[in-house]
Amino acid sequence: MAKNRIAVVGGGAAGLAAAITAAGSGACVTVLERGERVGRKLLSTGNGRCNFTHANVSADRYFSDCRETVEYIIGQYPTERILAFMEKIGILPVCRDGYYYPASNQAAAVVDCLRAACEELQVQIQCSCQVEKITPFKGGFLVTAKGKETFYHRIILACGGQAAPFTGSDGNGYELAGRLGHGLSPVFPALAGLTAEKARLKGLAGIRAAARASLFVEGRLVAEDSGEVQFTDQAVSGIVIFQLSHQALEGIRAGRRAEIRLNFLPHQSEREVLSFLQDRRRRLGERPAEEWGIGFIHRKLWDRLLKEAGCRPDCLMKEISDANFQRLTQRLTAFRVPVNGSLGFDRAQVTAGGVNLTETEPKTLESRIVPGLYLAGELLNVDGLCGGYNLHWAWASGMAAGEAAALSQ
Ligand SMILES: Cc1cc2nc3c(=O)[nH]c(=O)nc-3n(C[C@H](O)[C@H](O)[C@H](O)COP(=O)(O)OP(=O)(O)OC[C@H]3O[C@@H](n4cnc5c(N)ncnc54)[C@H](O)[C@@H]3O)c2cc1C
Repeated sequence: MAKNRIAVVGGGAAGLAAAITAAGSGACVTVLERGERVGRKLLSTGNGRCNFTHANVSADRYFSDCRETVEYIIGQYPTERILAFMEKIGILPVCRDGYYYPASNQAAAVVDCLRAACEELQVQIQCSCQVEKITPFKGGFLVTAKGKETFYHRIILACGGQAAPFTGSDGNGYELAGRLGHGLSPVFPALAGLTAEKARLKGLAGIRAAARASLFVEGRLVAEDSGEVQFTDQAVSGIVIFQLSHQALEGIRAGRRAEIRLNFLPHQSEREVLSFLQDRRRRLGERPAEEWGIGFIHRKLWDRLLKEAGCRPDCLMKEISDANFQRLTQRLTAFRVPVNGSLGFDRAQVTAGGVNLTETEPKTLESRIVPGLYLAGELLNVDGLCGGYNLHWAWASGMAAGEAAALSQ
């Protein structure tokens, strides 16, 4: 039987995993990448260290229009299989608190090993090659790039989403899929900082504080996470906020009120917080209020909490009324930041929404609309939480599509 000639459109994580798997399964594979090099986005991942998967991957870490397909794909390609893939291409994985990285701590090592594996399997990589059009033709496809048409039996579309467009994924893959008849769930940035009124953030820029962040949409608790919150003059950010961003932005897009509440003393119950503060007031009551928070909370944040609770910074702590003391406790445990949007695709890590997953076969990710076309990665309507889940989806979906495309007849 003649080998399937496969074009993989997009040389990101999903495209390269697809190419390696398809070539390993006997296909003749070409990667078409619009950028000057493959794996550009991978280099920025995990702060340059590439958190490529997680020890506990499950469907509830993802948002999508088709949970069953996500479940099936990550069931077929669980963490152990991604680790085996990494080892096979030359990466030694190390695990820190469930997050997997290359032992070298270098995202560039992952890109280099992917490129080396492609070379060993004789995958052709064509860079600076933007695919402009894909046309079904005689049981295969004509792919138009650089004004030239080339025939391939199968296509794997792995053009990424719209996040971090400077890495090459600017959303043009949605048009390619759309022109082939695919539908799109509305896209919006995810794993992104959340913007708030300037007045709410005034004086807080630059603060980093440990907190439990709770997302309320129309007054209802939707999600919570703990970690370091970062304040800028436009937004609240940091991984803990990223984890809440999908649901916050979904709510905001639907015209609902979204609010982040920050508890700066998350390890204590409300009663414990109150008695901690009362004890501190007994012991350190002679100190002026402005100095009283030093030692357990960022000074600028403390100044703001005092102001909001109606306490004068120069009065002694023992002079603060019980009512103001109560208000101070409330602000410390539930500092409210109404949020109204995101910092946009330029500053987001992933894209929520995308090509409908329901329009693909759950086992192979072959298009249900155009046979012979496979889809993988962030282009599809799947986005995960922070922690290696998005790259896990990229590898897993790429491998599923690559294998199926290579073995299809
Ligand atoms: C700053 C940052 C940090 C991140 N850190 C992590 C992390 O630590 N862990 C994690 O799990 N996830 C992380 N992510 C998310 C993760 O990187 C992505 O979800 C993943 O890379 C998506 O892979 P992909 O192959 O689907 O898309 P991409 O990596 O975006 O690749 C798509 C490729 O297709 C090319 N392309 C697009 N259109 C065309 C066309 N028409 N013709 C030819 N080529 C085309 C693009 O140039 C691009 O190279 C991070 C993202 C960012 C932005």
